[in-house]
Amino acid sequence: MIEAPSRIVVVGNGMAGQRLLAELDARGRANGVLAIGAEPHPAYNRILLSSVLAGEATLADIGLGDRDWYASRGIDLVTGDPVVAIDRAAKTIALASGRCESYGKLVLATGSRAIRLNLPGAERAVAFRDLSDIERLRAAKAGSTAVVIGGGLLGLEAAYGLAKRGVRVALVHLMDDLMERQLDAAAAKLLAREISARGIALHLGASTDRIEADAIVLRDGTRIPAALVVMAVGIMPETALATSAGLGCGRGVRIDDTLRTTDPEIHAFGECAEHRGACFGLVGPIWDQARALADILTGRAATYEGSSVATTLKVSGVALFSAGIVREAPGAETLVFSDPAQGVYRKLILREGRLEGAVLYGDTDGSSWYAAAIAERRDVSRWRDRIAFGAPVEPSKRAA
Ligand SMILES: Cc1cc2nc3c(=O)[nH]c(=O)nc-3n(C[C@H](O)[C@H](O)[C@H](O)COP(=O)(O)OP(=O)(O)OC[C@H]3O[C@@H](n4cnc5c(N)ncnc54)[C@H](O)[C@@H]3O)c2cc1C
Repeated sequence: MIEAPSRIVVVGNGMAGQRLLAELDARGRANGVLAIGAEPHPAYNRILLSSVLAGEATLADIGLGDRDWYASRGIDLVTGDPVVAIDRAAKTIALASGRCESYGKLVLATGSRAIRLNLPGAERAVAFRDLSDIERLRAAKAGSTAVVIGGGLLGLEAAYGLAKRGVRVALVHLMDDLMERQLDAAAAKLLAREISARGIALHLGASTDRIEADAIVLRDGTRIPAALVVMAVGIMPETALATSAGLGCGRGVRIDDTLRTTDPEIHAFGECAEHRGACFGLVGPIWDQARALADILTGRAATYEGSSVATTLKVSGVALFSAGIVREAPGAETLVFSDPAQGVYRKLILREGRLEGAVLYGDTDGSSWYAAAIAERRDVSRWRDRIAFGAPVEPSKRAA
């Protein structure tokens, strides 16, 4: 039996930190936990920032619990006061305000920060990461101009949200295909068609040279008017605190299957963590990690062995799903159903009868079944002839 630690301190009150508190609460162990966040407000649903920008959700919709939520569970919440140092020998942390706190078990849930390209004029660009960024984007007036740099999930959602507010948006992407990490070329072409149809001017295979006062200039000399510039070119795990405390870090804070860092008294999880060489940028894996970590912190035996991730895009009217591998690899079989006139494309990648990846565009029927089949490495060979058309109906369910 593992002994429950005396005082749990959670650094970072974002989606991961808040989820861990809820999981601890479900196990009757939230009372006495200290939660510390750098942002001025309690945790909110970061995923919904895209919907807030697009006017499809309000700020009131995105809260994950007000201060009463914490107080009523006996959680001591500190906001707007980042942790700046960890003294591992004394088992204490120092906050920016000068406050000092001791811990029994420390949990790092410091998330990620937006990557900023080192371009002339880059200081004018706004990121797409937190509430303060959204406030700046929401200030853009209808009819004004904006350029979004980055054609991944976040860049597309930023461009869509601004376009919905009546802003004239151009999107610049370095690669020839949008969302190239989640889509193959065929699905990316359909997506580009749909995005262009929403009035967003696409500049693909284009590289930004500099940002000027009222425009951005591409390497080929093209000048695109931009009262607002949004940089959505990726994220980096926030490891500064862990690094300065001497914890093992690669791209993220290195953790083992018990979500422990190289110091057994310090755990890490969420976007700041690197597990078996992988860093995650979606909440699915973070929920798995939060469950396992809450078990471990409450003295139960549990391990986290990794997650498979699935992506959807929050652009209304665009049905898109991607999970597992998306490009053919040696030894893999590909099943494709394509109806370009209807804007439908469905591709499944199988290996030795098991589903390894799925890209669905225009018709995402069966996506949760595919996601589960990929995660569980299910043998799907008996449905091979119909699996590209949707989740197969298993005989017992058909009879029912
Ligand atoms: C616009 C947008 C849309 C998204 N859409 C999706 C989606 O559709 N689906 C999906 O799965 N994921 C989506 N994501 C990603 C998802 O939001 C993240 O995976 C998730 O928020 C990560 O949780 P986290 O707690 O690890 O990091 P965060 O939510 O970033 O929280 C980390 C917190 O720690 C704080 N912090 C950092 N350093 C310190 C310190 N030293 N002391 C105290 N506090 C500190 C930060 O200020 C932050 O509040 C989206 C993200 C964005 C920005």
